[in-house]
Amino acid sequence: SSETDAYMKKHEITVRGDNVPHPFMNYGSTRFPSTILSEFESAGFSSPSPIQAQSWPIALQGRDIVAVAKTGSGKTLGYLVPGFAHIHKYRDGDSFGTKVLVIAPTRELATQIQTEAKKFGKSSSISSTCVYGGADKGPQLRAIQKGVDIIIATPGRLNDFLKSGKLSLAQVSYVVLDEADRMLDMGFEPQIRAIFSELPAERQTLMFTATWPKEVRKMAGDMLHTPVQVNIGNTDD
Ligand code: ADP
Ligand code: MG
Repeated sequence: SSETDAYMKKHEITVRGDNVPHPFMNYGSTRFPSTILSEFESAGFSSPSPIQAQSWPIALQGRDIVAVAKTGSGKTLGYLVPGFAHIHKYRDGDSFGTKVLVIAPTRELATQIQTEAKKFGKSSSISSTCVYGGADKGPQLRAIQKGVDIIIATPGRLNDFLKSGKLSLAQVSYVVLDEADRMLDMGFEPQIRAIFSELPAERQTLMFTATWPKEVRKMAGDMLHTPVQVNIGNTDD
């Protein structure tokens, strides 16, 4: 519609892919549970940010996404909230285990993501834990073994756990690479590839990045399945 076109133009949203759904210009059109909507309200968030508005309907269709948007644009909730919906699809079934894996470059970032997951996932009783290097392994393993909906991990420590057989990702079906560009800059590509070799082929994969250089394009080509691409603003592609 012309309203959608005007919204996309105003917020510099460009998409690439077949039959890309329209952005959710307001919370009402998301049909998220009222519990989550009330979290946005109490956070004082009056409308979805552009990357959220466009990523949410695509992610909710179960499709792979590449989302390119600058720092501070709200990418975390862009992938977490559809992740909550993904978890809820399994809630009444007899399938157990961690369904959502978020891979992020640093301990600080992993911790921030968990803070956001706790705050916005609390009312939908979403559990999460962090896995990162430079800290004892025991407490992290015990937290995982208790069973959590979301694991937020840095590549090195996650790969260590996988190699030692202490962790299985067999039930994971929603995988996020956050700050993909930064992870590649930091040299994490081998660990990320090793982790992906342990992931179920039947999965949804979402890549969030602030920039879109050729190394990131290459990884997206190797790890995502016909992704829809969303760009906000001028992100040189
Ligand atoms: P990015 O990952 O793109 O750098 P973040 O996800 O860290 O951005 O979000 C940046 C800040 O914006 C955070 O403080 C977050 O809580 C806030 N934020 C996220 N979504 C919204 C929204 N819809 N409205 C207002 N603020 C938001
Ligand atoms: Mg971020």
